[in-house]
Amino acid sequence: MKLTIFQCGSLKSKKHLFTMGKDVGVDFTVPVPFFLIEHPRGLILYDTGNALEVAQDKVKHWGAGVVGAYDPLMTEDDFVVRQLAWAGIAAERITHVILSHLHLDHAGGVGHFPKARYIVQKEEMRYAYVPDFFQKGAYIRADFDKPDLDWVLLNGPQDPRGDLFGDGRVVILPTPGHTPGHQSLLVDLPNHGRFLLTGDGAYTEEILDEDLLPGLVQNPSQAIDSINLMRHLRDQGVKVITGHDPTAFARLRRYPEFYD
Ligand SMILES: [Zn+2]
Repeated sequence: MKLTIFQCGSLKSKKHLFTMGKDVGVDFTVPVPFFLIEHPRGLILYDTGNALEVAQDKVKHWGAGVVGAYDPLMTEDDFVVRQLAWAGIAAERITHVILSHLHLDHAGGVGHFPKARYIVQKEEMRYAYVPDFFQKGAYIRADFDKPDLDWVLLNGPQDPRGDLFGDGRVVILPTPGHTPGHQSLLVDLPNHGRFLLTGDGAYTEEILDEDLLPGLVQNPSQAIDSINLMRHLRDQGVKVITGHDPTAFARLRRYPEFYD
């Protein structure tokens, strides 16, 4: 098994949009990661970064409001399909696309993997179509409104399909709060041990270390419960990979390096 970490460009933003009430107005540029997990029974993506259209006309695809707050810096070569092709992985070989949630910097590659199952929480799919007003800009209907895809809609923490291959190696953990159907991914590697990919459940390491809310939350109480779960796993030796922390990201092995 192997875990490879990729970056689909960056978002030029402000710090308080990631750490609520802290560093208000401070410039903050964050990576947009996506992850490839190679398992003997399949090739799995966790998240897909930004859509190709963002590299072509970001205001048209995301809207001026979102671009004003989270300006995406990416080229067409940063698009998930292109990066995987360079790594020798044709899009047709991806068997599963697990989406932490359906926000625009995570679901941009949906529909570009013709043989894949797309795995998302049912709650997330529902919310993506009718989000609260303050999350409307973060859901781009053109990215995820693709009913002909092979969608698998999971029913929360009790859903046995969350253990993808039934071997405990790739396990989906619902971590709601940022959005109602947000999910993290626990990956157990032979040599490097367990990793938790947190998506936007924990934007930065400060979120895990300090009593601090993430800058965007749909349900703060649920978000804190999810962060406490991440802290607990970290205390047990799991390596927790936060979603948009430039300092922590720079310390990780990234493509062409990997964890096995
Ligand atoms: Zn998000």
